[in-house]
Amino acid sequence: MSSRFVPSVAPAVEGDALWIGIRGMDVLVRDLGDHDELPTAAEAEALGIAPVRSLYLGELDGVPCRSAELPEGHEPPPGMAFRTLRDLYGRLDEHLWTLAGRAAQLVEWDRTHIHCGRCGALTEHAAGERARRCTVCGHAAFPRLSPAVIVRVTRGDEILLARAVRFPGRLYSVLAGFVEPGESLEECVARELEEEVGIQVTDIAYFASQPWPFPHSLMIGFTATWVSGDLRIEEAELVDARWFTRENLPDLPGRLSIARKLIDDWL
Ligand SMILES: [Zn+2]
Repeated sequence: MSSRFVPSVAPAVEGDALWIGIRGMDVLVRDLGDHDELPTAAEAEALGIAPVRSLYLGELDGVPCRSAELPEGHEPPPGMAFRTLRDLYGRLDEHLWTLAGRAAQLVEWDRTHIHCGRCGALTEHAAGERARRCTVCGHAAFPRLSPAVIVRVTRGDEILLARAVRFPGRLYSVLAGFVEPGESLEECVARELEEEVGIQVTDIAYFASQPWPFPHSLMIGFTATWVSGDLRIEEAELVDARWFTRENLPDLPGRLSIARKLIDDWL
């Protein structure tokens, strides 16, 4: 079932809210054994949970949603657990998981912008928009989002996959990199491939995008076709990069990621 989230900074509908408790970047859920559920605001209140700060997030299929920032040492009540977003994937319905990622990012932004980045005075929530505004100089801070491109490069019936320094085990994936200020997404794709593996590509085409709350990225997927260049890896970033055929694929990223969707689409 498709579901629709409408972001908002102030409640537009009545009723008990879905409640997303966040400690650090971890999410408080009701542990039902083989899956998890999000509690409601009334349930959290009945448990006596007192958040440090709370944000109104918007409505998911007409149901109001709130985040609640919990203190560092907060222990989960009986029957509940704190989970990382990665561990939570597959244990919550996907639209609820996306909501939890949204909540974690906004809580992190709220917590780290209590003071003005320009003059250091206290900030407060701006009326009617998702911003914290300085009470002295008026400087506004908006939630941070870091766009990154991720690109599937093919050459004939081969796909380019690389092993990043930080990858576990024998995992290979498509290449990704953060967008620089002043750069278009297509320029970023071309630069990353040139820098990381020394190749040139053509037919750079948009594929799909995915919010990636680790901690606040937006992954923008592209496909591209190899034109020239032999693989030459940037050793600070990569351990290996190779052309693979469908018959000899290495370990691939989990189904959670747009990286896997790019690879599965090619398969
Ligand atoms: Zn200020």
